[in-house]
Amino acid sequence: MKKILVTGAAGFIASHLIKKLLDNGDFVIGIDNFYTGSESNIEPYLQNENFKFIQHDVVTPYHFDVDEIYNLACPASPPHYQRNPIYTFKTCIFGILNALELAKKTGAKLLQASTSEVYGDAMVCPQDEKYFGNVNPNGIRACYDEGKRASETLICDYNREYGLNAKIARIFNTYGENMDVNDGRVVSNFIIQALNNEDITIYGDGSQSRSFCYVKDLVEGLTLFMDSDFTGPLNLGNPCEFTVKDFANYVIELTSSKSKCVYLPLPQDDPHKRKPDISLAREKIGFEPRYTIEQGIKNTIEYFRNKIS
Ligand code: NAD
Ligand code: UDP
Repeated sequence: MKKILVTGAAGFIASHLIKKLLDNGDFVIGIDNFYTGSESNIEPYLQNENFKFIQHDVVTPYHFDVDEIYNLACPASPPHYQRNPIYTFKTCIFGILNALELAKKTGAKLLQASTSEVYGDAMVCPQDEKYFGNVNPNGIRACYDEGKRASETLICDYNREYGLNAKIARIFNTYGENMDVNDGRVVSNFIIQALNNEDITIYGDGSQSRSFCYVKDLVEGLTLFMDSDFTGPLNLGNPCEFTVKDFANYVIELTSSKSKCVYLPLPQDDPHKRKPDISLAREKIGFEPRYTIEQGIKNTIEYFRNKIS
């Protein structure tokens, strides 16, 4: 039985990852300070004897004897990571430093939840791992983008200096059950607005694109990556690309909603085109997204229908 630490345990992605690890027979320690996560996400596991939850802020050092560490603690939605940008940056930097120090002490493998945001407003599409990105270091997204980029730097330096096995997963837009109703990202906003027959809030003219990955595919990728010898960086996502405007209409159609689209100002530095090249993930870890966008979005619609009814 492996002992595995998951930081950011009460968050959206971690809640699915923990289920997968427990189903696999592993012992899981989850830590979180509930900055954006919620107790309802871990509630199903609290009675499980193979799960232990500790409320803790990853900015402060911690110690657990574990074999593997998944470092997911960090607000991921733009309104949440911009709410307290200095704290977001600290969570990125001290969070990964503390995880790396633990990996150094215990010999644990480490997987960092990095992001497609390291590519910024990319000048190439699709984005592959060789692209160095186009990030505004002074903008409102920088607390997150640069925090995640600097975390990647620290991981590579710890690997080189101390021979750690620390991995960089660059996660692209992921959606599914357990996203928070007030998360603020496009998938949850549009579905909730459509279910309530409220205006769908498109930022800008809606011509910017995102590519959406269902969370069950993503966590499969995370565990395949952890089990491999490869350290990355590695893109994980689904190349299924939509413009934001087309995605709004798709959600309206699937929910049979009476909502209309309204157009609001585009936030600063909002990336224009985002689509992962997942050739390396296919080659190195045999990753292949299995859920169609229709299956994934329908499951997510049902989740929010129950949540808000
Ligand atoms: P989320 O906001 O649902 O989960 C993040 C969790 O981290 C929350 O439970 C929050 O309370 C916790 N947290 C934040 N700061 C903390 C701190 N200082 N100490 C302890 N816990 C803290 O977001 P998510 O979508 O589940 O994202 C999880 C990870 O994946 C994040 O690191 C994010 O950057 C990364 N990621 C997510 C996506 C995506 O599309 N969902 C894309 C790229 C990267
Ligand atoms: N977006 C939007 N309306 C919303 C929320 C988001 O038009 O209510 C747009 C946002 O401007 C961006 C895209 O949808 O272009 C994805 O935004 P999200 O916050 O989900 O994630 P990002 O990929 O930008 O971090």
